[in-house]
Amino acid sequence: MEPPQTRNKIIAHVDLDAFFVSVEELLNPSLRGKPVIVGGDPSGRGVVSAASYAARKFGVHSGMPSSQARRLCPRAIFLRGSHGIYSQYSHQVMEILGRFTPAVEQVSVDEAYLDLTGCQRLHKAGAVEIAQKIHHAIQAETGLPASIGVGAGRIVAKIAANSAKPNGMMVINPGREAAFLAPLPIGRMPGIGPVSQREYMKLGIRKIGDLSQFEPELLRQVLGNHGAAMARRAKGEDEGHVEFSAGAEGRSGLQSVSREVTYSTDTGDPERIRATVSYLSESVGRRVRRAGLVFDTVTLKLRRASFSTVTRSRALPKAGDDTSVIYRTACGMLEPLLAGSRERVRLVGVGVRAMEKRPEQMDLFLMQREARMEALHRSMDRARDKYGFESALMARSILHGRG
Ligand SMILES: [Mg+2]
Repeated sequence: MEPPQTRNKIIAHVDLDAFFVSVEELLNPSLRGKPVIVGGDPSGRGVVSAASYAARKFGVHSGMPSSQARRLCPRAIFLRGSHGIYSQYSHQVMEILGRFTPAVEQVSVDEAYLDLTGCQRLHKAGAVEIAQKIHHAIQAETGLPASIGVGAGRIVAKIAANSAKPNGMMVINPGREAAFLAPLPIGRMPGIGPVSQREYMKLGIRKIGDLSQFEPELLRQVLGNHGAAMARRAKGEDEGHVEFSAGAEGRSGLQSVSREVTYSTDTGDPERIRATVSYLSESVGRRVRRAGLVFDTVTLKLRRASFSTVTRSRALPKAGDDTSVIYRTACGMLEPLLAGSRERVRLVGVGVRAMEKRPEQMDLFLMQREARMEALHRSMDRARDKYGFESALMARSILHGRG
């Protein structure tokens, strides 16, 4: 494997700031600057799903029981949340991102990675300038504050975006990754939460620079797969580029269109995982059709609780643009994986290898047996254009949004 620096990748991480709270502030500007908490009932068992910066000053953070948040910040304004509206804003933002590069990997409702590697020629601008344009477009078109990090890999980009918060931009120039990461406390590394942080501290690993000194194999012996994965991250060896379109694909007119979701808590529920696959299939299918593309290969990605990642791809007998083919093919690959391991699942991704539709294919597609299904999906796409993605989901995807 080549060292990351020679790959010359340019990755941007875009993350909306206090997303749910920012949307609430757009809907009701009198909330601005106040301690606002979106989440469960403070007298019940709910948890905080977002806190404004004013509330964070009191030590409130997402994931905390709402009752505890109220003790820390008794004057906070608690809101139940308007999740349908959040997802409309989310889709608006993701569509803005899609105008800058087809290689957008959405990782949660308010976060995405963009591969800007090949974009400079297209936009006649440098990566920094493109990132500035993205920042400006999000602000101008949605009014939402976002932070953007740019670097040679996903981890660097994500940590840079976090460092730039709120409403900022940070660019780590090629070759400066190690110098940027080394002095940061290990808790800044995505994937190292407060609990695992203590395990690392016990080994004397306090900074990301300490972590990068360890051989992944050695840390695997002490901290398991998680340790090995974190040591590789600290060295800048990003895992799983699978979903980004590579340079070679650009030249041959091929591109990958994909989406993935990381669960807020790992799940062992096969129904929920199938629902997520359905949701992602719909989302990918929609993007393929919007771009006027067809696909000939479907990819499924599963990351388990131990951070081991499995990717399966299946070539199709003929190219098409039908969502139900993505779903059926992905499920065909999913079932043996679910049957083969009881380990909980952390992340699910669905992608396709897409290409331009050849003109003679147009008529053929209309004659296909699935023509009626396609018409259905197109009318769902139209509804989504008008009312947001969540407005039209196949019944099997609905479960994905729960929990
Ligand atoms: Mg965010």
